[in-house]
Amino acid sequence: MAGTEEASVECPYCGEAITIVVDTSVDEQEYVEDCSVCCRPIEFTVTCADGEVSEIEAEKGG
Ligand SMILES: [Zn+2]
Repeated sequence: MAGTEEASVECPYCGEAITIVVDTSVDEQEYVEDCSVCCRPIEFTVTCADGEVSEIEAEKGG
């Protein structure tokens, strides 16, 4: 799908690599999504530039 990109991020709780889908049409976004491995809430801060993911931070949310 246009405007989205898959990115791999390390879970801050369990350290497993998880894949998230990022809407690259938004320059900066913050959202919480549960880890698919340990089910704990991860707070993502995603920065995009020119339709590509430039930075992803994964922090313990909640
Ligand atoms: Zn996890």
